[in-house]
Amino acid sequence: MDKNSSPYFTHLKCRECGRAYPKEAVHVCDFDFGPLEAAYDYDAIRPVLTRTEIQSRPQSMWRYRELLPIDGAPTVGTQVGFTPLVKADRLAQALGVKELYVKNDTVNYPTLSFKDRVVSVALSRAKEMGFKIVACASTGNLANSVAANAASAGLTSYVLIPADLEQGKVLGSLVYGTNVIGIHGPYDQVNRLCSEIAGKYGWGFVNVNLRPYYAEGSKSMGFEIAEQLGWRLPQHTVVPMASGSLLTKICKAYNEFATLGLVEKTPFAMHGAQASGCSPISTAKKKGTDIVKPVPKPQTIAKSLAIGTPADGYYAIHAMNETGGSAEDVNDDEIVEGIRLLASHEGIFAETAGGVTVACAQKLIESGAIPREESIVLCITGNGLKTQEAIIGKCGEARTIKPSLREFEELVREELQATI
Ligand SMILES: *Cc1c(COP(=O)(O)O)cnc(C)c1O
Ligand SMILES: [Zn+2]
Repeated sequence: MDKNSSPYFTHLKCRECGRAYPKEAVHVCDFDFGPLEAAYDYDAIRPVLTRTEIQSRPQSMWRYRELLPIDGAPTVGTQVGFTPLVKADRLAQALGVKELYVKNDTVNYPTLSFKDRVVSVALSRAKEMGFKIVACASTGNLANSVAANAASAGLTSYVLIPADLEQGKVLGSLVYGTNVIGIHGPYDQVNRLCSEIAGKYGWGFVNVNLRPYYAEGSKSMGFEIAEQLGWRLPQHTVVPMASGSLLTKICKAYNEFATLGLVEKTPFAMHGAQASGCSPISTAKKKGTDIVKPVPKPQTIAKSLAIGTPADGYYAIHAMNETGGSAEDVNDDEIVEGIRLLASHEGIFAETAGGVTVACAQKLIESGAIPREESIVLCITGNGLKTQEAIIGKCGEARTIKPSLREFEELVREELQATI
């Protein structure tokens, strides 16, 4: 082992056969095409990464750095993470549950979605490996984060997206001076093209050849939830699913904290949320199978979740099954209602994926899949300012008057009488 190599992050490992691979830009097993995943020496980490040590560090996702797959110190996105865990009492009352929290990644730094976590790891690792050009296949948020973080790291970036994304997502990449390429076709076709480019040009595609590093960044959301809850695991975690990676990684995070003795090993259930217009994972889970049937033409306002062939769908279903969790999906109207419910009760403006999470949680509570007396965390992963099209005309209109006190009083007379 060379002296710059992490003593904690030891190798990559095939999720299917367990074969070990060196820490390079590889992502599938040569023998069975299983995905490769970062592996760690937990015995080496245990004495180092104590609660006291973690609490003494800056409030970012990198306070858990021994459990993240880079060799040296992070160089990109060092301030990402440690977003608020909000005790959501008003939303709890509306949903009829006792103990509810919102993990609020609508305010993640710097691009207002949980994707800053995965990009921080992927680009820190890309720099360690010497990549000069980084890229991604994205449904929007990943593109924003790659563009911003590459800009601040001085890396050239290309982001490939479906051509019909929301304006906020497209502008939110262009502004950083990245190369935005809109593809006429759904995300799956964008992703396939990116695999071809990665193979031919050797660029660092954060979610293709750098995927084992990228994916581990999602664990930080789970670590933070456990720490912010006072070093314990929530009984239920509701997670929006696109590829299914975030759900599997929060599950891995909870298990790692238990393995290291940072939390007590208490039961926890992982629940997955999708949009009905693109629900390959929740449909399979509800049918009781782990064979995920692709959705060729996603039709939903939750564009960030519109992945018809989810790379980690199989593993997400197993994570839900092994923890006693469940899956649900909701239509576009329910998504809008979910956005409004969260905003009007907690003052948090989430994007469409957040509406999916809230509305699915509501269904799971009503069906009894999530018992009302147990602790629940909702993972809210992106900011509503980026997907305004989805709710324009659906939250009422501003009332306009001349700048006159008389007109104002006329307007609010009845309302004032009710409050005085
Ligand atoms: C990417 C994304 C997700 C889910 O990502 P996975 O591919 O399942 O890890 C959830 N919410 C938002 C807002 C996203 O951009
Ligand atoms: Zn293998």
